[in-house]
Amino acid sequence: CGIVGVIGNNKTTDILLNGLEKLEYRGYDSAGIYVNNQAGKDYLVKEVGKISKLENAVTDDVVGSVGIGHTRWATHGKPTVENAHPHFSEDNRFYLVHNGVLTNFEELKEKYLQGVDFKSQTDTEVAVQLVDHFAKEGLDGEAAFRKALSLIQGSYAFAMIDKEQPDRIFVAKNKSPLLIGLGDGFNVICSDAMAMLDQTHEFVEIHDGEVVILEKGSVNISKIDGTPVHRDSYTVNLDA
Ligand code: GLU
Repeated sequence: CGIVGVIGNNKTTDILLNGLEKLEYRGYDSAGIYVNNQAGKDYLVKEVGKISKLENAVTDDVVGSVGIGHTRWATHGKPTVENAHPHFSEDNRFYLVHNGVLTNFEELKEKYLQGVDFKSQTDTEVAVQLVDHFAKEGLDGEAAFRKALSLIQGSYAFAMIDKEQPDRIFVAKNKSPLLIGLGDGFNVICSDAMAMLDQTHEFVEIHDGEVVILEKGSVNISKIDGTPVHRDSYTVNLDA
């Protein structure tokens, strides 16, 4: 299973698919991408089975400059198209990919999400519906994401796009791997540097309990409560 993301690059679809191929070794049963052209058009493509099946399902019109992708290793819910990631909120505002296992999703669903029309059987969908729930209560996308994270328990690497602010990707990590890669005029996200070595050799580590607001020209790291974090990038040496 693995996660990829891109912001600020017109080849987003190709970079996502290439990245997912590179993550194939981690194992998966289904895969999907969400791509947004930052001008009002977006695309969601999910398939059960090999990445090549997903690639065949991605038509030429799927182009954009921001996107997220996922290979799933099912823990909650069968390997079906509905259960494949990205998952999205009720009104199609938030799109989210997740690696890991949420341990309190049933309690969160019971407490906050009664009456929500769930489309999948996954633990993950609770996370994206929860963000939407807090947004509907009046929080902006970032505050809603932070509020949801303050309640969610378990392991996760999350990457989320808010259609109302497609100039950023919201990222968070706890006990699942996740890196930011620094491109030339764009930035990427990956579970493993391997997935993005075609794009960059410059990476930034993210630690457990941290949130990243990723834009094409900036990497803003903080704790869930908003406390800023500074971290330098490092170069992946291919000869090592
Ligand atoms: N627990 C999530 C699911 O079953 C994510 C699994 C994964 O890490 O791929 O959909």
